[in-house]
Amino acid sequence: MRLCSFSRDSRRHPGLVEGDHVVPLAAHDAIDIIRGADPVAGGDPIPLADVVLEAPVLPGNALAIGLNYRAHAAETGQQPPAEPVLFAKMRGTYNRPSGPVVHPEWTRRLDYEGELGVVIGATAHRVPVAQALEHVFGYTCVDDVSARDRQKAEPQWIRAKSGWGFMPMGPWITSADEAGDPQDMRIRTWVNGELRQDTNTSDMIFTVAELVSFASHVFPLEPGDVITTGTPSGVGVGMDPMRFLQPGDVVRVEISGLGAIEHAIVAP
Ligand code: MG
Repeated sequence: MRLCSFSRDSRRHPGLVEGDHVVPLAAHDAIDIIRGADPVAGGDPIPLADVVLEAPVLPGNALAIGLNYRAHAAETGQQPPAEPVLFAKMRGTYNRPSGPVVHPEWTRRLDYEGELGVVIGATAHRVPVAQALEHVFGYTCVDDVSARDRQKAEPQWIRAKSGWGFMPMGPWITSADEAGDPQDMRIRTWVNGELRQDTNTSDMIFTVAELVSFASHVFPLEPGDVITTGTPSGVGVGMDPMRFLQPGDVVRVEISGLGAIEHAIVAP
């Protein structure tokens, strides 16, 4: 299934995306479907063009992984890590797939990171790698928006990674049974139509199964939690000369089989 959340009457509704329509669901929220409720239709199909897609789920926890592609570690001048580098995205980062992302006044080096997002489906606590994917509900596209100057200058990455709206995601969650192999997805990012990132998730240092297992040994992962799995090479800070996002820029992240998100950067 392709599970989305959309807004109507100024509240969120869950839906199933079928073709170019969304079928509203009777459930209260997408999290109910992620936890295992049957996706029962609760209304007539609505053209996708007539709704605003929201973040498909509002995770209880959003974890992110630093340096999970060798070429990205190299472009940022760092060694590939021996263990996954975990950090968090605060709730205020959650953003609809169309954004926008407000360019904060406290950074001059705003950057994009196209990433594969993993949505947990069943509580995962201390799960072995071999069983980790059984705890995954599905996959989605994420832009792990980053303030490079704050990331470099500050020992904690809260400001660098958790600015308001710094996590556009969606456009929906493709369930694991339909998404295919998470280690064989093409991931591409464009800025203003210029292709910047073009990699396959087969190049990850730590696989999705390894990341879920690793994180589950830190604390229990709950249904709806999201792990965004690190960005490949091609970010703005890795270019020569470096190129950062400005108000008016448009970022598009597309992952094969999962769809695409596209959001603008806007002035504060
Ligand atoms: Mg990232």
